[in-house]
Amino acid sequence: MRINVTKSFLPPIEEYQNQIKRIWETKWLTNNGPLLVELEEKLRNYLNIKNITIVNNGTIALQLAIKALGLTGEVITTPFSYCATTTSLLWENLEPVFVDIQKHDLNIDANLIEAAITPKTSAILATHVYGRPCDVEKIEEIAKKHKLKVIYDAAHAFGVDYKGKSLLSYGDVSTCSFHATKVFHTIEGGSVVCNDTEVFEQIKLMKSFGHVLDEYYVAGINGKNSEFHAAMGLVNLNHLADIISGRKTIFEKYSRELNFSILEKPKSNNSEELVYNYAYYPIVLPNEETTLRIIDKLNEVDIFPRRYFYPSLNKLKYLNTYQRCPVSEDISLRVLSLPLYPDLDIEDQERIIDIVNKNL
Ligand SMILES: *Cc1c(COP(=O)(O)O)cnc(C)c1O
Repeated sequence: MRINVTKSFLPPIEEYQNQIKRIWETKWLTNNGPLLVELEEKLRNYLNIKNITIVNNGTIALQLAIKALGLTGEVITTPFSYCATTTSLLWENLEPVFVDIQKHDLNIDANLIEAAITPKTSAILATHVYGRPCDVEKIEEIAKKHKLKVIYDAAHAFGVDYKGKSLLSYGDVSTCSFHATKVFHTIEGGSVVCNDTEVFEQIKLMKSFGHVLDEYYVAGINGKNSEFHAAMGLVNLNHLADIISGRKTIFEKYSRELNFSILEKPKSNNSEELVYNYAYYPIVLPNEETTLRIIDKLNEVDIFPRRYFYPSLNKLKYLNTYQRCPVSEDISLRVLSLPLYPDLDIEDQERIIDIVNKNL
């Protein structure tokens, strides 16, 4: 049996069917239906936040945030993330300005941000990599001083609390992905959290083509999600605590048994103030050669870790200019995310640990 880096959570089928039956009763399939409205309400309560709107994926969530905040010119961003963080800027004709990452948590290095600000800079778009918080205080301070907007790509951060509140509540706008591979999923889906009511209303308008009935306010897009996706979310939310605690068990076994006299792993800032979601298990190997050897050895026995994140996004071929980010470029060559999901077999996990340790 093939073992991938993750395995999408599937609830007992009856639970999903029960939700789906409701759709047959309402005959309402999409366009802000009752299941979607109910899921938004449940997410507001679960996350203890004021505003959240569900969209059809985490990339559209970024696109909507960029549009609603009216970003222009240059946006300071991280080279160590999924490509959507960068491509959402390119898609809106903005110029990504890459600021290198910090070695210990692989998040954007807030101490390097100010040097990258120019008169054209309109915002900072940073990722909470693997669900570990960026230096949110420092970033907020810089943003205030230079009148910049802050967007967090919080695609990995569902279920993470930092300093007593959801990590999704930081920044002007925070986007999340509910893709099938994430800790909490609605098959495809995502969300936008935004503290400013005016911006939030704009995002809601923009995700529905920018019109309400016969009033056309703004050029929008289709960012809506369906009742079938909401149904999956309603069911999965009930399992979330178990999903996270199952991930924690696997996570801790890796931490105990992998050879950390040779390997490294990211460490969070202020970890005592963090409630973590165990979204990924990245290891940083001594060099790329070892990384590729371990990938090969695992692949031989049908185990497929992923190079999250590779390549460093400042090296994407379709960028106009090359901006040097030595830390991100180095780490991306030797980072590997190991399989992590609640029902990963203990024997399989032991095989993975053994293969990694033996090939260092
Ligand atoms: C998954 C992910 C996205 C994209 O989300 P989709 O829902 O797949 O569009 C964006 N950024 C990061 C960091 C991600 O991990």
